[in-house]
Amino acid sequence: MRRSSLRFACLLFVALPGTAEGQATDIAATYRAAADSLIRAATGDSAAYTRIGRLVDGFGHRIAGSRSLEAAIDWVLAEMKRDGLQNVRGEPVQVTHWVRGEESAVLTHPRLDTLSLLGLGGSVGTPKGGITAPVLVVASFDELKQRASEARGKIVLFDAPFTNYEETRHYRTSGPSAAARAGAVACLIRSVASSSIDSPHTGRTSYDSTAPRIPAAALSVEDAMMLHRMQDRGEQLVVTLRMAARTLPPARSRNVVAELVGREKPDEVVVLGGHIDSWDVGQGAMDDAGGSVAAWEAVRLMKALGLRPRRTVRVVLWTNEENGVEGGRAYRDAHARDLRKHVMAMESDGGVFQPKGFDFAGSDSAAALVRQAVGLLGTIGATGFEHVKESPEADIGPLVDEGVPGIGLRVEDSRYFWYHHTNGDTLDKLDPAEVARCVAAMAVMAYVIADLPQGLPR
Ligand SMILES: [Zn+2]
Repeated sequence: MRRSSLRFACLLFVALPGTAEGQATDIAATYRAAADSLIRAATGDSAAYTRIGRLVDGFGHRIAGSRSLEAAIDWVLAEMKRDGLQNVRGEPVQVTHWVRGEESAVLTHPRLDTLSLLGLGGSVGTPKGGITAPVLVVASFDELKQRASEARGKIVLFDAPFTNYEETRHYRTSGPSAAARAGAVACLIRSVASSSIDSPHTGRTSYDSTAPRIPAAALSVEDAMMLHRMQDRGEQLVVTLRMAARTLPPARSRNVVAELVGREKPDEVVVLGGHIDSWDVGQGAMDDAGGSVAAWEAVRLMKALGLRPRRTVRVVLWTNEENGVEGGRAYRDAHARDLRKHVMAMESDGGVFQPKGFDFAGSDSAAALVRQAVGLLGTIGATGFEHVKESPEADIGPLVDEGVPGIGLRVEDSRYFWYHHTNGDTLDKLDPAEVARCVAAMAVMAYVIADLPQGLPR
C-alpha cells in the first residue's frame, strides 16, 4: 500500500547551484560524478529485477504472521551478509496475525452465480453456515445515509467508482462500520481498483469501536457493477457469504536492517527502504518487494563502487505495513533515542515503475537542498519534485511525525491500481529497466543527502 496516490504535478527542475541558504555546497557540481557512476551501475544490468524475482518466486506472498514472510526475511538477511553490508540484523516486531481461510460469495437469487471476492484484512469471519441475506447496493456513504432504513438485516454493498486511491479506499477502511451502524449483517465493497479483469482487491479494513464487527469483503468491479445494475432493474438480490477469516494471537516478525557505515559521522543515519511483507495474494512483487529490493540494491551499489558517504546509509525493510504499519512504529520505538541523528528517511512503496522524482516532507531549507539533489537525475527522467506536508509513505510516517525529514519515490503509476493487492501483483508486471532506474534514483538521493557536509536542516 502507499500512503498517498494523489497525482503530483511533475515539475521540471533546473539546477541552480548554491541557492540554499547557509549551504555552501554546490550539489550539482560536487556530486555529478558520483551520481553518474551510481546511475551507470544501476542501469548497466538487471540485478535488482533478478533479485526481486528470486524473492517473490522463491517465497511467494508474505503476509504478517506467515512462515513465508519469515523465510523470506531469513534469506534477505543471509544475502545482505553475502553482499558485505554491515550490522545486518533482524529487529524484533510483534505483528498482527490475520488469516483469510476459505471464503466465497454466491448470488442465490434471482439466479445462481459465483461472485469473485477477497475478504478484507482484519475482517471477522461468518458463522460456519455463512450469512444469507438480501443485498442493498449503494454508490456512496451519502446514499447509505439516505437509505439507512432499508439496510437493517441486509448485506450492504458499496459500489463506489474509483476516483483516486486516497479517496476511494475509505469505502474499504470505513465502509464495514458504516454499514454495521445502519444494521447491516455483512459488508461488501467494489474493489478499490482503477481497472479490472474480474480481479478482486484486498486491503486492510478497520472497525470502529462504536459499531458491531461484521464480515467484510471486496467483490470484483465487474460483479459489484452487475449487482448494482440488477438492483436498478428492480430485482431482489440474495447472496450467501462464507468467510473463515480470523485473527490469531500476535506473531513474531522482524524489521530487516543493514548498513553501509558512514566514513565521518557514523552515528548519523539516512534510512531508506520498503516493506518486506505483502498481502496473502499474488507475490507482492510491486507492493512492495520492488521497493524493498530497490533500496537494498541502492546501498549495495554504493558499497560496490566504493562510494562511502560521510554518514551511515541504513536500509530498513519494514515488516507488516499492510496489516497495521507495525514495523514502522516498532522501528521508531526501537530507535527513539537516535531519532535526532536520523538525517532523512526514504521509502519506495508505490511500485517500481518509471521513476518521476520525489515527494519530500521537511523544512523549506531542507527542501531546497533535496530539490538540488533531484536535479542530478535528469538522465533517468526523475527530476520531478514536490514539497508535501505529510509523510509521503506509510512506514516512514512514524519517523516524519517525530520530525525526521521524509521522502518518497514517485513513479509513473497509471497501472499500479490495476494490480495492487490482487493475485495479479506478480513479477511480470515489472520492467527490469524501470526497476533499475528506481534503484538509481534512490541511490543518488540517499548518497548525496548522507554525504552533505552540513547535513539536512530540520
Ligand atoms: Zn505497500
